[in-house]
Formats: sequence, structure tokens, C-alpha cells
Amino acid sequence: MLQDKDRIFTNLYGMHERTLAGAKQRGHWDGTAGIIKKGREWIVEQMKASGLRGRGGAGFPTGLKWSFMPKESDGRPAYLVINADESEPGTCKDREIMRHDPHTLIEGALIASFAMGANTAYIYIRGEFIREREALQAAIDEAYDAGLLGKNAAKSGWDFDLFLHHGAGAYICGEETALIESLEGKKGMPRMKPPFPAGAGLYGCPTTVNNVESIAVVPTILRRGPDWFAGFGRPNNAGTKLFGISGHVNNPCVVEEAMSISFEELIEKHCGGIRGGWDNLKAVIPGGSSVPCVRAENMRDAIMDFDYLRGELGSGLGTAAVIVMDQSTDIIKAIWRLSKFYKHESCGQCTPCREGTGWMMRVMDRLVKGEADVEEIDMLWDVTKQVEGHTICALGDAAAWPIQGLIRNFRDEIEDRIRVNKQGKVSIAAE
Ligand code: SF4
Repeated sequence: MLQDKDRIFTNLYGMHERTLAGAKQRGHWDGTAGIIKKGREWIVEQMKASGLRGRGGAGFPTGLKWSFMPKESDGRPAYLVINADESEPGTCKDREIMRHDPHTLIEGALIASFAMGANTAYIYIRGEFIREREALQAAIDEAYDAGLLGKNAAKSGWDFDLFLHHGAGAYICGEETALIESLEGKKGMPRMKPPFPAGAGLYGCPTTVNNVESIAVVPTILRRGPDWFAGFGRPNNAGTKLFGISGHVNNPCVVEEAMSISFEELIEKHCGGIRGGWDNLKAVIPGGSSVPCVRAENMRDAIMDFDYLRGELGSGLGTAAVIVMDQSTDIIKAIWRLSKFYKHESCGQCTPCREGTGWMMRVMDRLVKGEADVEEIDMLWDVTKQVEGHTICALGDAAAWPIQGLIRNFRDEIEDRIRVNKQGKVSIAAE
């Protein structure tokens, strides 16, 4: 279990002061100017050495992403955009950072922006996050008043402005290019890539979009050294990580743990076990609603990191939003609800997603009631394959994968329901 001395987020539960004074007491904003004075190259190299992979779901190496930004400006400004849209069902980790430990994010924004040659950063916060926005804005104001932001920020010699932008509550604005569009005042619709944001992002300028947690961990990694961070987790899955566990556990919670912790340890140590005991576990969605579910028997010994969940279980760590479902769950209905969500959130730009999400949801509607033919299960599978990988952004995949997980893992249950429904109809007809 991760020891308290190794926790990056020391106020995750809001037990201490979230003010600048409180943050400083807990070691934040310590030697920030000294870190910046070591230079861009040094910071990027340290981040690469730490092994940090993006915490927004895709798991792309953060240091490498930063290195794509131009070393010399061609006259255009560069931007850091922090994705605080956190709208994936089950995911609720970044909001804890913003409302209880906002200075970790603000200090990280300054250092990361410097490392990318950006004098300006935007935080794009989810529309529904009202209190989080207030907490974060108060912290930004405090940082300006203390000279930690603005001209010669934190006496580092770097001028830096940080703006908080409040979204209007569309899930698709969590996709990085839709987020950029929305920030520019347009409809939140994903852009075709290339060009990638590092070449032409916000206002056509070099831009990096990073998740809140990815940025908030930066100052501590640089203060304690990349080896410290890389010491947690298996190779290629380094660091500590916020896990958000919801559903049928005794104590749902958000907790910072070492990467590669076993699922059993995570649940037993932090969540007080599965509701009704381990035999009552039915399925787990280990990484937020877009990754495929996993059957209970495959989950107990699972290692909670990117490579294991994808390689061994065909699922994913995603945002580490762990959704636990016990035997009382109607798994077909649970996945149907996700289909309905993705259909609602599709921006409608590309045909496979616009039509496919509705089509999949309507078949799922009937599967919930068992009002389908067994052959339609394969037909549904085929449709998910026609959507997956054939769209502008990852929402198409996100809509397809939960259904694929359902069919792969619980086909017997879908077939049973169809059979029971048919038998019911036959016997009613006989009467
Ligand atoms: Fe829009 Fe869906 Fe296409 Fe993404 S995949 S751009 S959400 S229609």
C-alpha cells in the first residue's frame, strides 16, 4: 500500500486548508523558480525519465508529448490547455484535485507551460463543475496576488497567465480538438487529425492538451526526482495514480495508490471489500465507461495498470474509474445505459458514429427485454466493428467497446434472456 509520505495529493479529502498558505505548508510552491531556471530541456528530460503516462485515459507518455512542441517559435505563441472536462461516466478524480488541492494544478501549469514555451495556459473546466470552478478561480486569484502568476511568475523570469474557461456541459468537449474548438467559441466538434495540436491547435498555434492529474503531479515529480516516481508500478506503468472506485463496494472512494496495485488489494484496503463478499462480484469496468467490462473471475487477481488491463484482459485502465457491479446488476441494462449516453453525446459529424450509436442503442433496447433473435447478437457485434476505428474521434470506439465487452463476456446471459422471453410468449400463446 502507498505510504502517506509518498502521496502527491495530500489534501484529496479536503481535511486541510486548500488556500495558498495551506498548500505551501504541505510543500507546494517550494523552489518553483529553481526548477524553472534549470531550463526547458531539463524539465522535459526529467518528465520522460519519470515514465509518466497521460492520466486522461489514453496513457500517452507526457514528456514525449511535450517534446513535440516547437523548440523555437516561428512567431506564433504556444499554448498549454488543461483538460478539466472530466465527463466520462464513473470518473471523478480531477474534481477532487480542483476543489481540494488546486495549487498542485496551478504550479504544474506554470512549470509545464514554461517547458513548452507557452506564456499562456487555459484550464477548460466541465460545465457542471460549479464549486470546483469557484475553488480553482479563488486559488488562481490568490496566486496572482502572491506574484506566482503574471509577469515574472514566482520570480522565475517567465511571464505566465492562466485562464479558467467554463464549458457548457457537453461530453464531447473532453476530446482535445473539440475542446479547442469550444475554447475558440465554436461548436464543440472534433477536428480531423493531422494537423495535430502541437503543430496547429488553439487559434492555429502550437498547443498541448493535458489532463488535470497529468499536470498536477509535475511539480512533485520534479522536486522528488524521476527515479522516485518511476519506482512505483511495473516498468512502462510508472507512478502513483488516482483511482476512483464506485458501485457495489462497501466504501466507494477516490484514492491515490501505486500503479500496478492488484484489484483485490485496492478493493480490500480502500473500499472495505465487495458488497456481499467476493462471491457476489459479477463484473467490473476498470477504467471508465468506455472500456470493456471484465468478468469477476478474471478481475480478482488483475493488476491495475495500462499494460495488464489491455494486454491480458482486453479492457483498459482509461481514467482508472473502477465501476464495480455485483450479482444484483442487470449487466445488459447497465451497458444499454452507456449506449444511450454515447448516442446522446455523439456530435453527429461522422456517419458511423451518428447512425451507429443510435442503431446500437436500439438493438440494446431490445436485448434488455430479450425481444430479439440470437442472430442479432452477431449482427450487433458486426456493427460495433464497423463503428470502431472508422470515425474522426474516439467517441465511436467508446460507444463500441462496452458492447463488445458485454457480448464477449456475457453472451450466455443475453441468449438466456432471449430464450426466456420467447418461451414466455409461447406459453402465453398456448394458454
Ligand atoms: Fe462526432 Fe462521433 Fe465523429 Fe467523434 S466519432 S467526431 S463524436 S460523430
